[in-house]
Amino acid sequence: MEQVFYNSTRGSIKNISSSQAIIKGIAEDGGLLVPEKFPYVKDMLVKMKKMDYKELAYFIMSRYLTDFEESELKACIKGAYGSKFDSQDVAPVKKVGETYFLELFHGPTLAFKDMALSILPYLLKTAVKKQNINKEVVILTATSGDTGKAALEGFSDVEGTSIIVFFPEDGVSEIQKRQMTAHKGKNTHVVGVLGNFDDTQNGVKEIFTDNEYSELLDKKGYMFSSANSINIGRLIPQVVYYFHAYLNILSEDEIAKDEKVNFVVPTGNFGNILAAYYAKEMGLPINKLICASNDNKVLYDFMGSGRYDRTRQFFTTISPSMDILISSNLERLLFEISGKDSEKIKELMALLKDKGVYDITSEMKEKLYDFYGGYAKEEETKNTIRKIFKTKGYLMDTHTAVAYNVYEKYLEETKDDTKTVIVSTASPYKFTSSVMTSIDEKYAQFSDFKLMDEMSKLSGLDIPQPIKDIETRPVIHKTTCPRDKMKDVVSDILNI
Ligand SMILES: *Cc1c(COP(=O)(O)O)cnc(C)c1O
Repeated sequence: MEQVFYNSTRGSIKNISSSQAIIKGIAEDGGLLVPEKFPYVKDMLVKMKKMDYKELAYFIMSRYLTDFEESELKACIKGAYGSKFDSQDVAPVKKVGETYFLELFHGPTLAFKDMALSILPYLLKTAVKKQNINKEVVILTATSGDTGKAALEGFSDVEGTSIIVFFPEDGVSEIQKRQMTAHKGKNTHVVGVLGNFDDTQNGVKEIFTDNEYSELLDKKGYMFSSANSINIGRLIPQVVYYFHAYLNILSEDEIAKDEKVNFVVPTGNFGNILAAYYAKEMGLPINKLICASNDNKVLYDFMGSGRYDRTRQFFTTISPSMDILISSNLERLLFEISGKDSEKIKELMALLKDKGVYDITSEMKEKLYDFYGGYAKEEETKNTIRKIFKTKGYLMDTHTAVAYNVYEKYLEETKDDTKTVIVSTASPYKFTSSVMTSIDEKYAQFSDFKLMDEMSKLSGLDIPQPIKDIETRPVIHKTTCPRDKMKDVVSDILNI
């Protein structure tokens, strides 16, 4: 297989191997690591049609992680996508009316981040071994809810690692919070930050890019790595399910060979939809990538105007995993559409940091034609959940409903009859209160926990195993801290 090397979007790192890139997480200059080129596989779609999820995962990932041995990568895939998923298919595609739903929530935490976070620990462990590193890997991660638990699940009791998860204390659902604070595992730490997700994420980023602090850690026998969606080891596994969805529909003869489809992706940090863009660059027949936002519609504005402006009011919505004003992975797209111009990326990211606003060039903007941006207001999201449940019997979570609503707007505006896949990112059980009150206000008086039973009665869907007894699990992690004390908390935990 042809070797693929990795570079920083901001230019400081060139030609490192995939295992080095996974260990690094983020470049010293704050840039993100990107493959120097996209492996092209369009001619092999027919061959891929026969593969199951794990075989397909190997086929795609081996083209990016070219310094992994076949046996190493296959062991990672087997560990990740074996018994932890409640569906043989890992990511089933459901047809509802004329639309397809790619359900990415059949893993241990009922949300799409399991797709990548169940494999990242294996990739990281293997990468560390390959590079002969004798340090304890400390995973430091900021979460808007789902990443945290998924990362805890992935890294729990993995030898040679420990994990510290920061989450916005009042920015996650009751169930999400309990999932994290009740998590067992000797090497796990969970901390509530008194701020919003951007504060939390920026705090973690600052710790990562603090060189003095890294040196101190190094002396003490630790090294940081990130489980956040900026790690290339999370992005690449996500490319797989776009192929999987396409091949699934193709196998059912719903589309002809080479026929294009649209994907609608509920977007926050821009990781999931970026993986779809990578799939398109690899030759997957995709027409439009429809980027769906909630009231924090910074990406919708960007797609329309070419201006990214984070200086705006932040909204806490019923789709909290998309409540983000700085979509970190967008930097990787900017890098591609600028013609891999790291000087330009440095300039734009400096503007974002200092002024909160940047404008892309008109040449870059033209290259956004693959994308369509839309957003859903809170009431629209709720109405969509109710309408689709009442008319089609399909119960969506709030994030998926944002995507569906944006798709309806896209249809009305463009009349595009291309077959379309809605990327379904969470189980409705993960956001029971918002989902149930969307259907009927009377559920407002119930607790999240109680509502799980009500949802099961209403929908006929069993309560998923991982959250069945959640209410009775004791809270183990009780630490909270202000935004500017995050580093001190890390030092406390690591005893340095
Ligand atoms: C994280 C998340 C998203 C947003 O995905 P990004 O990769 O950050 O764009 C959407 N829905 C759910 C349920 C999520 O957990």
